Amino acid sequence: MAAEMSREERWSLAGTTALVTGGSKGIGYAIVEELAGFGARVHTRSRNAAELEDSRRRWEEKGLRVTVSVCDVSVRADREKLMETIKETFDGKLDILVNNAGQLFVKAAAESTADEYSHLMATNLESFFHLSQLARPLLLNSSVAGGGSIVNMSSIGGTISYAGAAIYNVTKGAINQLTRSLATEWAPDMIRVNGVAPGFVTTDLIKDVSAHTTTDQLADEHSKTPMRRSGKPMEIAAAVSFLCLPAASFITGQVICVDGGRTISA
Ligand code: NAP
Repeated sequence: MAAEMSREERWSLAGTTALVTGGSKGIGYAIVEELAGFGARVHTRSRNAAELEDSRRRWEEKGLRVTVSVCDVSVRADREKLMETIKETFDGKLDILVNNAGQLFVKAAAESTADEYSHLMATNLESFFHLSQLARPLLLNSSVAGGGSIVNMSSIGGTISYAGAAIYNVTKGAINQLTRSLATEWAPDMIRVNGVAPGFVTTDLIKDVSAHTTTDQLADEHSKTPMRRSGKPMEIAAAVSFLCLPAASFITGQVICVDGGRTISA
């Protein structure tokens, strides 16, 4: 039981293994760094091989134990290959899965095509479901007190609605319910499932918002946020890491907004 561990043990991931999707940049990069900093061996994947290698080199320079490989999470066969790699890399055991890789899609609902809809669903939602399914047998072998842990990267767009991002909002709303459903179903297996829902965070993804809007969406967002600013990737990574720690052993099915108060403001 985590409650019987020492404080050092409850706030450590030493000896654990983690898979983080989309760790080459942005929020995923910070999650990889934070989990590895807590002592986990981390594997991460994304599509751009050069960016991945660049990130891997930076982690190596900091003495962090991170391996990388290329994968497109929207492709079912890639996901199956990824989990085979994880099985080999971590000797059939996985303690943490962070479903983070996702894309923003900004376009009027009336003009969005069937292909655009399918692609975003496959990338942002189906990949989370399928990777969780594939990871389950490995998470069952977790030796962490409190069991294996999944953290899904949601968004406040899953709760409040941004005009022009209907499909994205739908994927994130569904992730919230996927989180609660898997948490309920897999609690008897000692697998905890939680989510983190960021507000605006300064990454390449947000540059895409600016490219698609005529108004200053960022200034508008800050004015609606009690803390009057965007978040930093490490502020999201801290919440994700907490949920993976033995210290969080009684928390499951929760989606924590990390948004400077954006969703609680009238
Ligand atoms: P980002 O800077 O664009 O990074 C996205 C990461 O995911 C990159 O490593 C990217 O690498 C990878 N990725 C994207 N599509 C992929 C695919 N099909 N297969 C494999 N890897 C893929 O975005 P971010 O802001 O860090 O976003 C990370 C997550 O946070 C997303 O789920 C996003 O919806 C969520 N989020 C972000 C914000 C925000 O304000 N930034 C707010 C709420 C939620 P490649 O492009 O090389 O594949």
